[in-house]
Amino acid sequence: MTSAPNSLLADLAGELGASGVLVGADINARSHADSTCIAACAPRAVLRPRSTAEVAAVLRRCHAAGQPLVVQGGLTGLAGGATPRPGELALSLERLSGVEAVDPDAATMQVRAGTPLNVVHEAAAAHALQFALDLGARGSCTIGGNIATNAGGNRVIRYGMTRELVLGLEVVLADGTVVTSLNTMLKNNAGYDLKQLFIGTEGTLGVITRAVLRLHPLPRERLTALVAVESFDALVNVLREARATLAGQLSSFEAMWSEYFELALARVHTGAAPFTARHALYALLEVEAFEPGAEATRLEALLARLIEAGLVADAVVARSLEESARLWRLRESVGELLAELRPLTAFDISLPIARMAAYLEVVGARARTLFGDRPLYIFGHLGDGNLHLVVTLRAAGDAHAVDEVVYGALAGFGSVSAEHGIGVLKRDWLGLSRGAAEIALMRTLKSALDPRGILNPGRVL
Ligand code: ZN
Repeated sequence: MTSAPNSLLADLAGELGASGVLVGADINARSHADSTCIAACAPRAVLRPRSTAEVAAVLRRCHAAGQPLVVQGGLTGLAGGATPRPGELALSLERLSGVEAVDPDAATMQVRAGTPLNVVHEAAAAHALQFALDLGARGSCTIGGNIATNAGGNRVIRYGMTRELVLGLEVVLADGTVVTSLNTMLKNNAGYDLKQLFIGTEGTLGVITRAVLRLHPLPRERLTALVAVESFDALVNVLREARATLAGQLSSFEAMWSEYFELALARVHTGAAPFTARHALYALLEVEAFEPGAEATRLEALLARLIEAGLVADAVVARSLEESARLWRLRESVGELLAELRPLTAFDISLPIARMAAYLEVVGARARTLFGDRPLYIFGHLGDGNLHLVVTLRAAGDAHAVDEVVYGALAGFGSVSAEHGIGVLKRDWLGLSRGAAEIALMRTLKSALDPRGILNPGRVL
């Protein structure tokens, strides 16, 4: 591990100004870790460039000195990728923030990497447009981090992951070279699509500084419904029916198994419980309404038909924004619920819907053998094949044994990360989801683009 000699920090202060290089007491009060349970160590310094040119100057000097850096956005990742390791400098994009331009005709927006996701949402909404990526951390995560991790979230079933919503990028390579590829066109097959090298590669191949985003029409309303079902089969049927009946306007289908739902109901729900009885599974549906009356009628008719057919045991449709927010809180308050359950280990896995029921049975049985009756909390984006599992531990040291159960049963058909990325937490398991030739190609790209290994070393690979 190379240490940062004081002369490098002095040079960096020369490039960024004194307020651009925080050290000592100035960084003690800051949070350094992303929101995982890994213990964080403070970086040697926090670098805060205000422009692409300043990012380039930082990387040029760190490349020359062989100084490793960790790139930081909103610190809301859940894979430990932005948490500093000993000897690293932190490169924070917090001052490289702001929307640069919105083109309502092309439905595009150009934005700086450090812009919080909710600011992107507001800027789009001012033009009756939406940026369709949405997730619980919208107030603190940044668009640069969303792109670097190819974030998923709640509307993937309708709009795809972040990758589908990015048209162009400006990136600084490890040696300080600025690659400006701020394409604004939907169609552009002129050579390699270079932005894909940086989307979802978790800051290991370059630092994203600006992006051109693809926008969509803003719906007039979002309809929310909560349905209760008694079996996984019924839940899959409801998904299929909802997708068919609501055409392209079903924007979320969030599943919650009863242990998770009851916990959320007890700890975060306000007002009367949505259902009087307890059910096996629940799904939160969101429908984008462009003609609200017509779509509400269609949703209610669908739910009535599914109840009639015995597929849905009970259902409620939110009658106001407040009711909708109360229902969404059951799904989105995961962070605060989990804080009370530590020590725990959380998973973000992907697998075909057809194999989910059998998979959960195997994992449940193995977990019971190992850990007795500790509850397994399950929720996730069913339409995307993405489940989140949370296992409470007797001791933090049990995490590896749980990893073996959850990941071991996925080998050969699932992914150890659906949307959070590999970071440092899942490095040991990458080989379960990727073949040797795939990992070798990832290493080839890493060494070609970052030959001195200064960008987010030890993450992903
Ligand atoms: Zn998720």
